[in-house]
Amino acid sequence: MNGKTIFLALILVSFTFHIEANDQVEVMNPEQGVAVQKKSRFEFFKWRFTRTEPDRVTIDISDEWKDHDLDAQMNYTVWIGHSTFLVNNGDITILFDPMFSKYASPMSFAGPKRLIAPAMQIADLPKVDVVAISHNHYDHLDIPSLKAIHQAQPNTMFLVPKGDKKLLNKHGIENVQEFDWWDSFQLNTSEFHFVPVKHWSARTPWDTNESLWGGWVTTSKAYNLFHAGDTGYADIFITIKEKFKEIDYAFVPIGAYSPRNFMKNSHVNPEEALQLSKDLSAKKSFGMHWGTFILSDEPVLDPKIQIETKRGDLDFEIAVPGKVYFLD
Ligand SMILES: [Zn+2]
Repeated sequence: MNGKTIFLALILVSFTFHIEANDQVEVMNPEQGVAVQKKSRFEFFKWRFTRTEPDRVTIDISDEWKDHDLDAQMNYTVWIGHSTFLVNNGDITILFDPMFSKYASPMSFAGPKRLIAPAMQIADLPKVDVVAISHNHYDHLDIPSLKAIHQAQPNTMFLVPKGDKKLLNKHGIENVQEFDWWDSFQLNTSEFHFVPVKHWSARTPWDTNESLWGGWVTTSKAYNLFHAGDTGYADIFITIKEKFKEIDYAFVPIGAYSPRNFMKNSHVNPEEALQLSKDLSAKKSFGMHWGTFILSDEPVLDPKIQIETKRGDLDFEIAVPGKVYFLD
């Protein structure tokens, strides 16, 4: 590597932390588009350089998925880690935000490092019909993972937000469809709808919000589900509930919420995650986006503790990575 490459790599890696820390504030209104406010870079760097990183605690993972033939089994979900959920709805198998790499970063050797291994490897996956991506941050759109899935399963389709197709094409992935907010797509008897959430996009300091971000609603004969990607709290979940009537299962981020002044506009905290679930009237929710990478200041186990303390009667599961949960 020459000096220029190293310099560029350092900029990109520091930007990876920058992305997760998020000094960008998005105010999302699906009717009126997006307004961007920025916090000062000074405030951001002051936080980055004065913060104490939480302890690298590891959560338990399971290999219970090995007891099942996931190609034959129907109506289940497995949390693989971070926002990566494998879901079968009796019609097709979907993989959301596949992230199998060691670092959530443009570099394979630096940036936020995994606390736990993925509960399944790409070679262990059953036949995946669709990979659905929420947005292009490195912890959700991981090119090495997408390339490996494409190589292992060339027929898998990739559904991405508007603006991200060229990135996948550049890496040799051809079966890609781009979605604007509220665009739909049907495969067999399942329908995918890309919906707005409160977040933002960027992979470099120069491409902020050049592609979209969002969540996925998948409707099917068996049940409807919502994968939120990354999001701050907003009224949009009430709109989603009104539009799709029934959301049976919701996959909701619960981590990367501290400090609030940097995180609240792009990441819900556990209380807001519970409210989001109530807004959707979800029959059952699964927490995600915690326990896998340290992206923020809250202790690693806090999202789980907060949800378990505050969920009351709400069916909000803190899933164990690798365990098979049956959906009906
Ligand atoms: Zn993000």
